[in-house]
Amino acid sequence: PVFLKSISIQGFKSFADKVKLELGQGLSVVVGPNGSGKSNVADAVRWVLGEQSAKNLRGGKMEDVIFAGSTVRRPVGMAEVSLTFDNSTGIFPLDFQEVTITRRVYRDGEGQFFINRAPCRLKDIHELFMDTGAGKEGFSIIGQGRVEEILNLKSEERRTLIEEASGITKYRMRKREALKR
Ligand code: ATP
Ligand code: MG
Repeated sequence: PVFLKSISIQGFKSFADKVKLELGQGLSVVVGPNGSGKSNVADAVRWVLGEQSAKNLRGGKMEDVIFAGSTVRRPVGMAEVSLTFDNSTGIFPLDFQEVTITRRVYRDGEGQFFINRAPCRLKDIHELFMDTGAGKEGFSIIGQGRVEEILNLKSEERRTLIEEASGITKYRMRKREALKR
């Protein structure tokens, strides 16, 4: 399975200053009072993995992910989040011990994605995670209400979910692309 080693957040939602959360092997738990930013951490992870819907990030528009200022801090102009994954097992098809994916957005809507600091497309991020079961549609982030939703899925939709988690989605996508030509 994929091992997320750290999450760096800067200018995203309530995180005005840069924070780096180091995660150990096994289970990590985020605790804190109401409104302290726990769900914002989950939103940050979902966002780097390519979430394009502001509503799924509990906002009205994408700009809402950028720190909007507080009584003691001015707003910032850019949000940036990085996830660093262990790749010592080669789960990602890249010749690096660690894989860091980064997403950045500016107030004018300009956005960028990076894999190990090299600019890339959102599609590249999707492909990187497609077979790991950890993509944004994968099983790794189960939001409130999602458990019930999964239980209520039609059999075909549940199959799609299981296929993604087990790693056959990539071949299905490739087949579809090949047939298009
Ligand atoms: P709960 O225990 O109630 O679920 P939580 O720890 O999950 O709380 P979050 O929902 O992560 O809390 O954080 C909410 C806080 O984030 C609110 O105070 C909100 O004002 C702040 N916040 C969200 N978006 C922004 C933004 N763009 N700029 C500044 N602050 C923001
Ligand atoms: Mg919450």
